[in-house]
Amino acid sequence: MPHEPIESVVIVGGGTAGWMTAAALSRYLPNATTKITLIESDEIGTVGVGEATIPQIAEFNRMLGIEENEFVCATSGTFKLGIEFANWGRVGDRYFHPFGAYGFDLEGTDFHHFWLRLSQSQDTPGLDAYSLNASAAYSGKFIRPDGDPRSVLSRLGYAFHFDATRYAAFLRAYAEQRGVVRKEGKVVNVHQNSADGFITAVELECKDVIKGDLFVDCTGFRGLLIEGALKTGYEDWSELLPMDRAVALPTTSTETPKPYTIATARDAGWTWRIPLQHRVGNGHVYSSRFTDAEKATQVLLDAVDGEPLGDPRHLRFVTGRRKQFWNANCVAIGLSAGFLEPLESTSIHLIQSGVAKLLSLFPGREIGPVERNEYNRLLSTSYQHTRDFILLHYVATERNDTPFWRYVQQIELPETLQHKMDLLESRGSFFRYEDELFSVVSWLAVMQGQRRGPKGYNPVADSLSANNLTKSLANMRGVISKTVAAMPTHQEFINRYCSASPTVPAENV
Ligand SMILES: Cc1cc2nc3c(=O)[nH]c(=O)nc-3n(C[C@H](O)[C@H](O)[C@H](O)COP(=O)(O)OP(=O)(O)OC[C@H]3O[C@@H](n4cnc5c(N)ncnc54)[C@H](O)[C@@H]3O)c2cc1C
Repeated sequence: MPHEPIESVVIVGGGTAGWMTAAALSRYLPNATTKITLIESDEIGTVGVGEATIPQIAEFNRMLGIEENEFVCATSGTFKLGIEFANWGRVGDRYFHPFGAYGFDLEGTDFHHFWLRLSQSQDTPGLDAYSLNASAAYSGKFIRPDGDPRSVLSRLGYAFHFDATRYAAFLRAYAEQRGVVRKEGKVVNVHQNSADGFITAVELECKDVIKGDLFVDCTGFRGLLIEGALKTGYEDWSELLPMDRAVALPTTSTETPKPYTIATARDAGWTWRIPLQHRVGNGHVYSSRFTDAEKATQVLLDAVDGEPLGDPRHLRFVTGRRKQFWNANCVAIGLSAGFLEPLESTSIHLIQSGVAKLLSLFPGREIGPVERNEYNRLLSTSYQHTRDFILLHYVATERNDTPFWRYVQQIELPETLQHKMDLLESRGSFFRYEDELFSVVSWLAVMQGQRRGPKGYNPVADSLSANNLTKSLANMRGVISKTVAAMPTHQEFINRYCSASPTVPAENV
């Protein structure tokens, strides 16, 4: 019966994707009608990386009713105001991709047109001086935004860094409290209906057979159900994004945590630095066509500050996405659905987006093509938009100093990306299509920061006299500096509200 509710959802995999899915489904599906089982294998374990996020994750927390300070504390988290990109436009350059707005719009027109007009006619500070996020980040400050739209603080945006293992454990406790049944064990066999290929059950090594109506494949890169059983196929994007390896290494902290991620371009890839409360996450994402594991590990070891907290961990991946995210009665969420390298911390967001869309399109017992097709259409668009934005970082650059950078220079760009770059580069125009994730602030930050900023601007910016414009922009910079000066430091904020191990008593802050 198409309208009868699903009785049993089986989630295979207990990494970030599995537990995010379990938590959200347990929050919204009526417990009495729909049983949720999650199977995970301690022997296989999780990918163990994935510690930087984008601001949309706050919506996920809100959707689940999670108290933010409790979540930051439980995951040894820190706050993230954006990403500093070093060496991307040219070696020695750095810029900030902020999670909040630039300046204030004037005459109903985006701020950046006014800044472009001024910066093209006289010496004026760079975009970072007009970003509350960038200014606070570089001063090591943090505070939550103000809800009052008249306050400059309402323009602050933030996300989190957190410990991936602690995040999964936190969500597991949440989901189990809401009735999710966890089974430990390894799935060794997938039972399918011979007529339509639908999955009927999964079989564990211990011979237990778990039946279900809807299966969610959260088994990571292996895609045990979506690929192993259903042979869905993979759209390989590695000609566009040639990164296919990573080496990760947590280290001790040598300073108080910065409220931002650092992504530094290297000869054949880039390194990340993610500060948590109790350690720093580091890694090197690289292309095996242009370097090898030994050299890549050395680049990472040379880049870290603290003491290693283990051995370097090597990972392999193929950039791309599953040809269908939802096939038959199986929805792939997380790394089983696809992977875009972590340059803009988008994977956890794509999990969130998959879970939210699954809930919106949640099927009845008889799973048909209507919801499935729409889910696949929406997710395909999200992956494509995200891919284009990541690719932008490699192609909007003057770097051609190594074989890797010369290779990326000659990549034939997808039309969708070329179109966006052309519009922005010409006169600073930008349009957000469909459910597109990244806004003009993000695109402008990268293009301007990598020396491919707009050549012209919208003529509305000529409507103010040069004198008034200079004054307005100076005023904006003043407001931002004053606001940053009054903020607590990032460490003080953590100590006060969400310290995993309090170091400074709250009354001293
Ligand atoms: C180098 C790197 C850096 C990253 N950095 C970021 C980042 O900064 N920000 C971000 O948003 N994302 C990042 N990601 C992506 C992020 O790590 C993943 O999106 C996230 O961890 C989700 O992984 P997952 O749950 O899909 O898979 P996994 O963590 O691999 O979990 C798979 C689960 O499936 C189970 N399983 C597998 N096979 C079986 C079986 N046969 N039987 C039973 N259980 C099974 C495993 O035990 C495990 O529980 C990064 C990824 C990589 C590779």
